[in-house]
Amino acid sequence: MSRVEFLLRRLTELERPLLVALDVDGTLAPIVRDPESAEIPTETLSMLAALARAPDLELALITGRDLRSLQRMEQLEGIWRAVEHGGLVLAPGEAPAERILTPEQREALDRFRVWVAEHAPDAFIEYKPQAVALHVRPIAETNPERAERLLEEADALARSLGLHVRHGKALREAEAVPYDKANAVREILRRSGASSVFFVGDDLTDIPAIELASQNGVGVFVQSDERRGAPSEAAVVLDGVDEVAAVLAGLLQHSVA
Ligand SMILES: [Mg+2]
Repeated sequence: MSRVEFLLRRLTELERPLLVALDVDGTLAPIVRDPESAEIPTETLSMLAALARAPDLELALITGRDLRSLQRMEQLEGIWRAVEHGGLVLAPGEAPAERILTPEQREALDRFRVWVAEHAPDAFIEYKPQAVALHVRPIAETNPERAERLLEEADALARSLGLHVRHGKALREAEAVPYDKANAVREILRRSGASSVFFVGDDLTDIPAIELASQNGVGVFVQSDERRGAPSEAAVVLDGVDEVAAVLAGLLQHSVA
């Protein structure tokens, strides 16, 4: 039995309603140098649209991106969204409420922003409502030592400013408020009334949600050339976005049959 078939068999055994909670970059969308040009393949988008309509399934996208950046990639209907690593959780059709930072949090983020603009103008920088993310993948390709040094310096600066630091693949993110994808998954489970969860993610930031899912369903880690093997014993491993797409296709077949 293939890895995909084995996983599909486990998914059919999970109690319904099943929450299908998926990370986006590296899970649905292939990783590219510049996150602004990342795309979810059209076929995958069609499958997600069909999964969102399937009875006994709840579909959620769980991403570090902010809402604007996620909505550039998909305009799906009937899905849950957790953006900014769970900083904002939205039910299908729900509009985001306004969130307010303290003057101190705003000042700390501004100072971090100024530093990255000065020291890493060639990096990809994501400005989110409550965080600044520094992506050094473009720098690491030509100068891995400088990329590593930038990550370390950004880390130290963010800490000294009282910001929370998130570590990801070729990423440091300074956050005014620490969020956690596992909390987002827990919230969606509670609010949606789903009985079990299937979570898929490819990065360090996904591990808490993978572990949560493996206690109440199935947690999958998507390996890539950037990170091989399961980071957590609880995780089932899939190889790349194509295997994730194959599992979603199989799940869809079972769910509408
Ligand atoms: Mg990812």
